[in-house]
Amino acid sequence: MKKISVQCQGIRLAYGSNEVLKDVNLDIQPGEFFALLGPSGSGKSTLLRLIAGFNQHQHGRLLIDGVDVTGTAPWERNIGMVFQSYALWPHMNVWDNVAFGLVERRVPRAELTRKVQAALELVGLERYAKRRPSQLSGGQQQRVALARTIVIEPKVLLLDEPLSNLDKSLRVQMRQELLALQRRLGITTIFVTHDQEEAMTTADRMAVLDKGVVQQVGTPPELFDFPGNSFVAGFVGTMN
Ligand code: ADP
Ligand code: MG
Repeated sequence: MKKISVQCQGIRLAYGSNEVLKDVNLDIQPGEFFALLGPSGSGKSTLLRLIAGFNQHQHGRLLIDGVDVTGTAPWERNIGMVFQSYALWPHMNVWDNVAFGLVERRVPRAELTRKVQAALELVGLERYAKRRPSQLSGGQQQRVALARTIVIEPKVLLLDEPLSNLDKSLRVQMRQELLALQRRLGITTIFVTHDQEEAMTTADRMAVLDKGVVQQVGTPPELFDFPGNSFVAGFVGTMN
């Protein structure tokens, strides 16, 4: 799979008079597991939705694989997104939930079968194909959501607090699974979290966002040892 870069250059987005993203600059490397850490309301989800094409910025450029995609629709970008709420189809079994995006894209039967099988194996759910979402645990449901996203072979994977609904021990286990999966696929991943420990223990590099401004970018040890300002020091320094 080709590894893709994501670059935000001087991105601004306002909802009316509420400036949510103010001059965001990020240079995310091909194949990187990049964490975006920030408190609630700092603009993390807005930025992910913008990269996916569900929000449009008013200033700046968004480059995916070096190409400015500003103004293009989500389907043209083929970017996968996983949310905190799994939003699985309750009336469909696991297999059909994962196959859904391929059916929509009119993927031929044999290829669809092969891809759904592979995605279910990647998340360890091949034996659960016939179950309904309601018959699965929270962690298993989130694995289905992941499988459903990676099955379409997105260029970039965006994860918006995907583990926040899970209890602490499962969260710790799942973040290791996520990282292992990302390494296996080699897909550029932006992992949004408000949990500093989650970012610090997974990311190749991370950005700290506050009030729509990127406060600092670096590796977890760089931010921990050399915080650029008091906000980063306070936010990254407190492990919970
Ligand atoms: P985070 O994900 O970091 O918690 P969000 O990106 O969800 O932050 O929100 C950042 C700010 O943008 C908040 O002030 C929020 O109220 C505002 N906002 C988010 N989505 C919308 C929207 N669709 N319309 C108006 N304001 C929004
Ligand atoms: Mg959010």
